[in-house]
Amino acid sequence: MLERHFGYKSFRPGQQEVIEHVLAGNDAVVLMPTGGGKSLCYQVPALALEGITVVVSPLIALMKDQVQALQANGIPSAFLNSTLTYSEEQAIEARLRNGGLKLLYVSPERLLSQHFLERVAEWKPSLFAIDEAHCISSWGHAFRPEYKRLDILKKVFPEVPMIALTATADKAVRGDIAQHLGMRNERLFTSSFDRPNLSLAVLPGQNRWPVLQRIMARHAGECGIIYCNSRKGTEKLAAQLQGIGVKADSYHARMDVADRDRVQDSFIQGQTHVICATIAFGMGIDKGDVRFVIHWNMPGTLEGYYQEIGRAGRDGAPAETILFYSYADVQTHMHFLEEVEDEQYKAIIGAKLERIKEYAEAQVCRRIVLLSYFSEEVVKPCGNCDVCKDPPKYFDGTLLAQKALSAMFRCHQQIGMSVLIDVLKGTHSSEVQQQGLSQVKTFGAGAEISAFAWVMFIQQFLQQGFIEVDYRDRSHLKITPLGQRVLKGEHEVRLVTPETLKERQERTKKAKLPQVTEVAPASADLLIQLKALRLAVSKEIGKPAFVVFSDATLIDMATKKPRNVYEFRLVNGVGDHKTKQYAERFLKVIGELRV
Ligand code: ADP
Ligand code: ZN
Repeated sequence: MLERHFGYKSFRPGQQEVIEHVLAGNDAVVLMPTGGGKSLCYQVPALALEGITVVVSPLIALMKDQVQALQANGIPSAFLNSTLTYSEEQAIEARLRNGGLKLLYVSPERLLSQHFLERVAEWKPSLFAIDEAHCISSWGHAFRPEYKRLDILKKVFPEVPMIALTATADKAVRGDIAQHLGMRNERLFTSSFDRPNLSLAVLPGQNRWPVLQRIMARHAGECGIIYCNSRKGTEKLAAQLQGIGVKADSYHARMDVADRDRVQDSFIQGQTHVICATIAFGMGIDKGDVRFVIHWNMPGTLEGYYQEIGRAGRDGAPAETILFYSYADVQTHMHFLEEVEDEQYKAIIGAKLERIKEYAEAQVCRRIVLLSYFSEEVVKPCGNCDVCKDPPKYFDGTLLAQKALSAMFRCHQQIGMSVLIDVLKGTHSSEVQQQGLSQVKTFGAGAEISAFAWVMFIQQFLQQGFIEVDYRDRSHLKITPLGQRVLKGEHEVRLVTPETLKERQERTKKAKLPQVTEVAPASADLLIQLKALRLAVSKEIGKPAFVVFSDATLIDMATKKPRNVYEFRLVNGVGDHKTKQYAERFLKVIGELRV
């Protein structure tokens, strides 16, 4: 099915396990990062099972994209939501009654509306897929009250398997999903949140414009998003970009809905190349060929940052992300923080701001820092971030880490950073005295190191995932499983000295641009031609370019240079349907460029 309908040669990590589990009639909760390939986890079963798969999705724009992409692969599918006219709806319902559709996307409101479930019963549902399932949890950032009522599905259709999908990793939310949906014997599938095709880099925020111009030159004709922290910022930057000939536009929450839709559609269609946006943009946009995401300003949390860069490279082809980091942005966030009234909330967002600052200043592999933050254990540097590409000098810090971890252990992991430093240095501070910590065995074990240096080291332990901040327990530090291995001497620790850190921070002020991986020059011309043809085709059929072929597919095509229909079919992302529709025209272009 994967091969025939989607043209993909192999499953992405986790997909096959989920599909087998669902095909065996079981419920599943699937946690995969944005771009990980969640949709296929229900689309393949939908094709294999008799009857119809009903997909609940909260985002109308997303439904349309998904259905377009399915139809482009020749898969009979449709959506029902408030954007359709009465007669369009009637036509779809007629096809549903004849069993002419394999997948139906609906909004939760529609699904829960009167008598709708009775009709669903007549269409013989084979599977329910709940997309963006984190919306069910009030712990999450996107709570949708109507999602809570989806528990009715299991009551009415106890025998029909259900799959819930989300890219939100939060532990509290995870627990809510299966419970609120009333699933039974469900299995939780989590795959790595790593996105190896995204390069990561942090550049100094001073003098950004000339740097941005160089980045734009490198991505000429490609699509990307630039996040700014204010409406004014988006408008100014978009105007500046237009001034140098970039097809740019701005997008922010103050615009009215019609304008927002227009800008968003033009971006999806590939007419606008660069969107300068506040955080409001990108939510629920399923555009595979976003080749870069730039943060003109630093976001307030790593969650937000990761979600935003996650909108790049969803097609799996290389994509570039850059964060401009400046102290001015930190101050802006601090300023907002001042105004928060709830003390507990203030402490949490303050701690989160601290973590993204540390990320920006890190001198260890940035991917390790990011994934550790999301409680994922990684030990190998990634090779695709600015630190890996130009690493500092490390020294063996195993003993130092063991001292700190053992002090934490002996204090029952009930202390924060400053008390930990008191214990390590043997300082009789008031907290130390109150809690009687001068009695612990490691008291003063790190006295020879300055308090400033300890701060630098402990931050590196956090960044490398040996310890974590427990926000639910007054931000006390906790030892992770990887930290346990460090304690036992099973994992060697590499650290950067405070002097090196400082020196490198100075150096980044004059930073060079990071390198990006590019297609072999011999194929580059061909790729440009293929993209031009794709654009022409997309205009003819009135669908976005990525619905024709994704960037990843065109890159594979430019590399393999198929000579006939048979070879064309072997390109990743080319299934039966698209071979029939497009092989001839694309082969012609490839043939013309072959000498
Ligand atoms: P998610 O919903 O998890 O964000 P999608 O389901 O939209 O991600 O998939 C992201 C992209 O990856 C899509 O372009 C999809 O066609 C592609 N994709 C999914 N599975 C595979 C696979 N096994 N091989 C190649 N590409 C895949
Ligand atoms: Zn790295």
